[in-house]
Amino acid sequence: MSKNTLIIGAGGVGNVVAFKCAMNADTFGNITLASRTLSKCREIADNVQKRTGVKIATAQVDADDTQEVVELIRGCEADIVINVALPYQDLTIMDACIATGTDYLDTANYEHPDTAKFEYKEQWARDEAFRKAGIMGLLGSGFDPGVTNLFVAYGLKHYFDEIHYIDILDCNAGDHGYPFATNFNPEINIREVNSKGRYWEDGEWKETEAMEIKMVWDYPEVGPKDSYLLYHEEEESLVKNIPHLKRIRFWMTFSQSYLTHLKVLDNVGMTRIDPVEVDGCEVVPLHLLKALLPDPASLGPRTKGKTNIGVFLRGVKDGAEKTVYIYQVSEHEKCYEEVMSQAVSYTTGVPAMIGAKLMLERVWYENGVHNIEEFDPDPFMKELASQGLPWKVMELEPGETLEVSG
Ligand code: NDP
Repeated sequence: MSKNTLIIGAGGVGNVVAFKCAMNADTFGNITLASRTLSKCREIADNVQKRTGVKIATAQVDADDTQEVVELIRGCEADIVINVALPYQDLTIMDACIATGTDYLDTANYEHPDTAKFEYKEQWARDEAFRKAGIMGLLGSGFDPGVTNLFVAYGLKHYFDEIHYIDILDCNAGDHGYPFATNFNPEINIREVNSKGRYWEDGEWKETEAMEIKMVWDYPEVGPKDSYLLYHEEEESLVKNIPHLKRIRFWMTFSQSYLTHLKVLDNVGMTRIDPVEVDGCEVVPLHLLKALLPDPASLGPRTKGKTNIGVFLRGVKDGAEKTVYIYQVSEHEKCYEEVMSQAVSYTTGVPAMIGAKLMLERVWYENGVHNIEEFDPDPFMKELASQGLPWKVMELEPGETLEVSG
């Protein structure tokens, strides 16, 4: 029986999801792309039709309003909602899925607009309601979170008896030619980067100042890059779901130029998320900054270079120490050539499509709210390789560690 798929969010990631669902139309059936700004949906739908021949429907929705989403879901009789709007909309869209009995998937955990707090608590709290409604919610099916969680699950299934140390390594060595721009939504990106660093070790969370801990990692096919310890949401679910873990950290590369721009913006107050009064109007400085910065969706044709995201795993197999590095390299220009988006949107949108595909095909299906590493990684890893994100496994010297400088 033909399925109906609803995608919410028509930004950089929504564009990739729309293309990739259209390229897998046998599974996704009738596709509707809805977002706050209808013209963006129409532009994507036109491009998808021109390039793939698949016609997708479009709709306008304010996904902050649960009732609007309920009506939209009913109107297109959706079997699944792929949420690639902003993290602020996660709960309203999940509630609309509960009300209509519709499966749900997203790529980023809920955030409240007024506090930059990244946690799964409120989404996990909906587990029972999802079970009662007989539906599934898959959280964090992007690249990180998403593929990185699956790389860990794959490592545990095929290479280790126990994983003790996880380092997630995220490098974007792309160059868009602007002095300063973010590769995905500027507001979400800057809130994430400006938050305190945090990692988990010996059963407790340890906090650092933002960008306090740095190391250089030699990313295959990219080269050595400064990498900074950040908190990232997949750490929370991996701590819960991977037994015997002793430590998990997350690293992201930043250029000196990016960090200098960000420091100046911080120092003058442009990254504040509380409203300030300007000529009698209330303005959130970060919203103004977002309006001034290039739209990430417009970076596609300008961005050159590669991304490399992977996991460095240490643990034991048959009583012996083992170190394995699993990673994926994408090229910005190749991604743009295929779906008119740069690699950061591509590496998020493809796993979102794959997660939804496995749910619709009932390869992965369990009522309730789940993080992605709870499922068998093999079918997902197979799809990754064939849908545009081939990955590699490198076995390193047992006991090899990352060199961290202060
Ligand atoms: P964009 O800002 O490019 O796109 C967001 C889209 O959501 C826009 O089309 C926007 O509409 C729409 N939107 C915002 N608010 C609403 C609303 N109230 N109702 C309906 N639509 C709304 O972001 P990206 O495409 O870069 O990112 C999308 C998601 O992917 C984010 O949640 C981000 O955190 C996540 N992400 C996850 C990654 C991962 O690896 N897991 C990596 C990168 C991103 P409008 O055009 O009107 O503003």
